[in-house]
Amino acid sequence: MKTRKPSGWSGHAACRDADPELFFPITWEGRPGPAADEARRICQACPVRRACLDWALGTGEPDGMWGGTTPAERRRLRARQLA
Ligand code: SF4
Repeated sequence: MKTRKPSGWSGHAACRDADPELFFPITWEGRPGPAADEARRICQACPVRRACLDWALGTGEPDGMWGGTTPAERRRLRARQLA
């Protein structure tokens, strides 16, 4: 069973002190807005972005911004990986 809790790399996350609502808004489905843009900007400068994205893809994380990707973007990445 995969863990749902990030470890190790999360201590270096650029979002540690960011407003959680930027990364976990009520909804982005269909239309990521300014919160997603701001979260993505933080992710782009994050030293653990790759580990974060790999974790989200590996666990199927359904919510929030992880590794600079929205849930819809991760679903597309996962579909490509499985094709
Ligand atoms: S990539 Fe983004 S969501 Fe992931 S740890 Fe870094 S800042 Fe946070």
